[in-house]
Amino acid sequence: MLTIEKMTVGPIATNCFIAADESSGDCVVVDPGSDAPEILKRISSKGWQLRAIWLTHAHFDHFGAVASIMKKFPQLPLGLHSLDFPLYQAGGGAKSWGISVDCSHEPTTWWNHTSNLHLGHMQFDILFVPGHSPGHVAFFQPESGTLFGGDVLFKQGIGRTDLPGGSHDNLINSIRTQFLPLPEDTIVYSGHGEDTTIGYEKHANPFLA
Ligand SMILES: [Zn+2]
Ligand SMILES: [Zn+2]
Repeated sequence: MLTIEKMTVGPIATNCFIAADESSGDCVVVDPGSDAPEILKRISSKGWQLRAIWLTHAHFDHFGAVASIMKKFPQLPLGLHSLDFPLYQAGGGAKSWGISVDCSHEPTTWWNHTSNLHLGHMQFDILFVPGHSPGHVAFFQPESGTLFGGDVLFKQGIGRTDLPGGSHDNLINSIRTQFLPLPEDTIVYSGHGEDTTIGYEKHANPFLA
């Protein structure tokens, strides 16, 4: 069974998710944007074992806590799509916010070379959804109907495309071809704001009308 802990962290109120397979006790952190001590405290309070960091994309508000976590767990796999690696190396846009991030820990898992993604006994599909950033991905767990969508689709909104590497056409195409075909009751855990569902956004999202 998939258990999800949601934490809203950092200066842009980014949603960080701890996803755990209760049967094995394994967990991963999706988009640790900030507050590494809080994230690690939450994991240990649950008695889970941290197995990997999964990044949807390389904006600093989604990976700002990577370095602090990696210092404690140097062997931890860190996943990113290679098309977002230049953005990661450039600090993920932190400079324009007057923030410095430690991006010295290079990814060790490349989503574009990963076909089987597991958390304990559960399998996830990696959906390639560029537009907000060039190498944006989302993680879909079919049995539980769970989608970690990053900054692609929000409740009645969509991700920004005015940042370097962004493309409105690509973003809309990603949503239409990768997200909308998913079951309507799929819960979308977005990178900012409230959770939503595919079915709700199909009918209520003004950007998809
Ligand atoms: Zn972003
Ligand atoms: Zn974001």
